[in-house]
Amino acid sequence: MAKIIDGKAVAEEMREEMKTQVEELKEKYGLTPGLAVVLVGEDAASQVYVRNKARACDKLGVFSEEYRLPADYQEEKLLELIEKLNQNPKIHGILVQLPLPKQIDEERVLTAIDPAKDVDGFHPVNVGRLMIGKPGFLPCTPHGIQQLLLRSGIEIEGKHVVVVGRSNIVGKPVAMILVQKKTGANATVTICHTRTRDMAYHTRQADILIAAAGRPGTITAEMVKEGVVVIDVGVNRVEDSTAPKGYRLAGDVDFEAVSKKASAISPVPGGVGPMTITMLMHNTIEAAKMSQHIE
Ligand code: NAP
Repeated sequence: MAKIIDGKAVAEEMREEMKTQVEELKEKYGLTPGLAVVLVGEDAASQVYVRNKARACDKLGVFSEEYRLPADYQEEKLLELIEKLNQNPKIHGILVQLPLPKQIDEERVLTAIDPAKDVDGFHPVNVGRLMIGKPGFLPCTPHGIQQLLLRSGIEIEGKHVVVVGRSNIVGKPVAMILVQKKTGANATVTICHTRTRDMAYHTRQADILIAAAGRPGTITAEMVKEGVVVIDVGVNRVEDSTAPKGYRLAGDVDFEAVSKKASAISPVPGGVGPMTITMLMHNTIEAAKMSQHIE
């Protein structure tokens, strides 16, 4: 049976380290990292994410502000708020919870955030910096996947990583992070998507397989080789009449069958999930340090 890649444990370990770091920043420099989270509308999932982010800040001693705005909020006013937050010295990180309501142009809003406060790593400046291997904010889920692998003792260098999915949030950036000429990367990377011919041919080559398709059952046991390391990013609701809510969460990978062939595998929930907010906290602390030129 495969070793379980425990995202909860890795996230906890990182959060302990960050708590100490935040205490040090307060003591030595009088600096409290600050995060502003902006939520427009009443999307239920987004409300849960925003609450969890505020809770994570509290636990680490990071200052946080929440802006809960009505669903009909106008883009112009949102841009004004972002500009105010850009100028606010107590705020080092700004996160606008996606998706935004229809009347608001997502791209315009994301590019209005000062790249030095873009802790989600979605601003084109940070996307570009990732591409050319310069320091910048890395998007939280892909960066969390890299940390999860490294802190679970899995070597990435020289390995063939196959990523299933090419979104701007997960697939493309995780491929770009792992292909960099850097310690903790240096992988050979293949990206698959819905137009890939014979996807199983590619996934069977993977030393490390990262599934980010958002479809349950995308990766079956026949599609992987013995000893593969599997990171399951997918979060899917699957009908289950025995579950109290009538559904359960499942990843993109047939966990039961694939875990019999894999050397290590991340579960859903409890794999990549806990890493995302952890990396948001990491970016917020880094943003605060950068604002004061602290190494
Ligand atoms: P997305 O924007 O829907 O992108 C999915 C990607 O997978 C697309 O590139 C799509 O290809 C590809 N794809 C879909 N079905 C496929 C198939 N059968 N074979 C090959 N490729 C396929 O999704 P996302 O935002 O990247 O998220 C992916 C999953 O990760 C979702 O389940 C999401 O909930 C989860 N997620 C989890 C976290 C976390 O913190 N744990 C964070 C973010 C996302 P095309 O480009 O050709 O359409």
